[in-house]
Amino acid sequence: MTDADNESENDRTQPPRGLPAPAPPGTSALPGGTYDGTVVLVTGGGSGLGKAIAAEFARLGADLVIASRKEERLKSARDELAGLGGRVAAVPCDIRDPERVAEVFDAAQAAFGLPGVLVNNAAANFPVPAEDMSPNAWRSVVDITLTGTFFMTREFGRRHLTAGTPGSVINIGASYAWTGGPGFAHSAAAKAGVKSLVETLAVEWGPYGIQVNGLVPGLMPHEDMTADIRGNLDRAAAPMDEREPRSGSRELDSRQPALRVGTPRELGWAATFLASPYARFITGHTLVVDGANWQRRGLVSPEVVTVREQLGREPFAR
Ligand code: NAP
Repeated sequence: MTDADNESENDRTQPPRGLPAPAPPGTSALPGGTYDGTVVLVTGGGSGLGKAIAAEFARLGADLVIASRKEERLKSARDELAGLGGRVAAVPCDIRDPERVAEVFDAAQAAFGLPGVLVNNAAANFPVPAEDMSPNAWRSVVDITLTGTFFMTREFGRRHLTAGTPGSVINIGASYAWTGGPGFAHSAAAKAGVKSLVETLAVEWGPYGIQVNGLVPGLMPHEDMTADIRGNLDRAAAPMDEREPRSGSRELDSRQPALRVGTPRELGWAATFLASPYARFITGHTLVVDGANWQRRGLVSPEVVTVREQLGREPFAR
């Protein structure tokens, strides 16, 4: 090929368009009825990504149990999810308390039977420089994200081992489990622990027929995001040389290798696959659904901006 050929080739090159759009809402990748007769318990299933995951199981016939602390929000999510066809129970619970965790399983069993699928989606998070983090902030995020996930998983495992039945656990993680998460020391440490639990328990419980996998969302904005996390997205959308944050999906899209953010239903589809009969030999694995954002490296490193500066904080003073 000559340079002239190359030039005319380049003239015809289209601008990059990113990864194609996902299938439309309301569709499923699995056969209808895949989860008929299966009880699926989703922590934090009353909001955000947890609700989106619950919705995809419901479309495939599952009976749902959603559990979290805020009763009102749970009830309204229950009514919304019930519109998809299946039965839904909403059980208030703080997953940090092992006795309340046992009560959720009792309530699920009384309503529909022992959950065959557990999705540990509940977590807590907010950005803070490590030097400013209070003991309470650390404990609260680690207790909910890691300890709560363990208590839920242990109760699920105990009941299945007793009953001699198989099951599937999906722990919702975060990619900073591998990379560390500047500005999120508590959550990144907790998510690394969650990923470790996936690998440990898959081996411990494989002999009993219990699969344990992880599932990591990328940037998937949703209407229930907390103000802290929404503020972080606004910062992500702002050019680094401007301090005024600009909201908007176009700015966020252009910062992803996929040239778009993810949609919550794409996480839901992945969850329904991981717990399905088509993924029975997948266990101990953590699947990242983020359009390769976590693999991103530039040819040129961007200028370092401290976490304090990114959060607009004054220099640290005791
Ligand atoms: P979110 O909006 O912060 O929702 C967290 C959910 O957990 C809420 O439903 C909350 O309900 C529940 N929860 C919190 N503390 C609880 C407790 N002590 N006991 C029981 N339930 C509790 O989170 P999200 O954005 O939907 O994210 C869902 C999962 O994806 C999380 O594991 C998160 O770490 C992970 N993730 C999200 C993103 C993203 O882009 N959104 C990216 C990476 C990873 P109550 O307040 O009613 O308790």
